Amino acid sequence: MAEQQVMIEYQIVARGVHDPRVLEALRTVPRHQFVPPEYVDDAYDDRPLEIGFGQTISQPYIVAYMTELLAPLPQHRVLEIGTGSGYQAAVLAELVAQVYSVEIIPELGTAAQERLKRLGYENVQVRIADGWLGWPERAPFDRILVTAAVSQIPPPLLEQLRPGGRLVMPLGRPFGSQYLVLAEKSPAGNITTRTALPVRFVSCTRAQ
Ligand code: SAH
Repeated sequence: MAEQQVMIEYQIVARGVHDPRVLEALRTVPRHQFVPPEYVDDAYDDRPLEIGFGQTISQPYIVAYMTELLAPLPQHRVLEIGTGSGYQAAVLAELVAQVYSVEIIPELGTAAQERLKRLGYENVQVRIADGWLGWPERAPFDRILVTAAVSQIPPPLLEQLRPGGRLVMPLGRPFGSQYLVLAEKSPAGNITTRTALPVRFVSCTRAQ
């Protein structure tokens, strides 16, 4: 689709994402299949779109940027928190061996799982649960990507990250400033963090 190519050149490459594997994944995943019918014509626009339940599918550039920062490799097992539409999970599924994605809103998680299956993504498993707790039964993970904002890195996620692994997440207050943070776990298990881009994500909610 031509629109998809335009999106990649003008929104993503122009802003500095150059990893060829990430760009290829963005070229391959049909984003228009992940948005509600009324937004199909807007699927490749430079913005997030509503997907219901007060949630959004992230702006394409943010998906690309976070994926590049995560540095996924073909043999990796990746945990995503916040399945939403399943779009980011599909992008990851193009790049790694296995994706585990946790969504707290049952309707979104179920719809995303069905959509991913229909599109042929066999290497994504979706679980309906509070992602703050990670997915201990499937740990450890080589990479963890959180796509809802939290005020601190959830300790269970750090525990479930493999030594040498990377975690990318938006950190900040619900309506205050948020920054993407990259956390790395050294082979000895020490955590170092660095701050990347300012962002605006929907907040992480917790199961009651
Ligand atoms: N990655 C998604 C967009 C994420 S929007 C995509 O590609 O479409 C953030 C998602 O995080 C929402 O679907 C929201 O319901 C979910 N979420 C919020 N808090 C959560 C939690 N504690 N555990 C799991 N998912 C959560």
